[in-house]
Amino acid sequence: MNITHDCVASFHYILTDNSGKILDSSEGHEPLSYLHGAGNIIPGLESALEGKVVGEKLSVNVPAAQAYGVHDNSLIQELPSTMFSGIEQIEVGMEFHAETEHGMQVVTVTKVEGDKVTIDGNHPLAGIDLNFAVEITEVRAATEEELTHGHAHGAGGHHH
Ligand code: ZN
Repeated sequence: MNITHDCVASFHYILTDNSGKILDSSEGHEPLSYLHGAGNIIPGLESALEGKVVGEKLSVNVPAAQAYGVHDNSLIQELPSTMFSGIEQIEVGMEFHAETEHGMQVVTVTKVEGDKVTIDGNHPLAGIDLNFAVEITEVRAATEEELTHGHAHGAGGHHH
């Protein structure tokens, strides 16, 4: 069967940036399973998988805007380190959940200088064009329960 709305599709993938650096991969794991048409995966990848069948291999280039969004400078803020009281040592790479005007977001510390801390609320993959090498391993009809939940169950999907 072809991948279409209300199918659960599974695929192996290797994700690289434009320089060829591997950012993520399903190698050594179960293939990723998702419910097609439910927005479980990024839109650019989901639309490229539409109509495909088991065994197909494809390369999908997803521009940043259709992946994790363009880099938004307004999500970068410099804060006084006093706002982080209670944390013994602030280090670059630390992640915090912060209430922002866009709702709850994960922010990453990108710079610590004196008593100033710079945080970035962009997704780590924001502004990066993504290249997926995909191999489809399974396509099946979704179960009633999966349709109700809006995601795939089983190996490579949700476990609960
Ligand atoms: Zn579920």
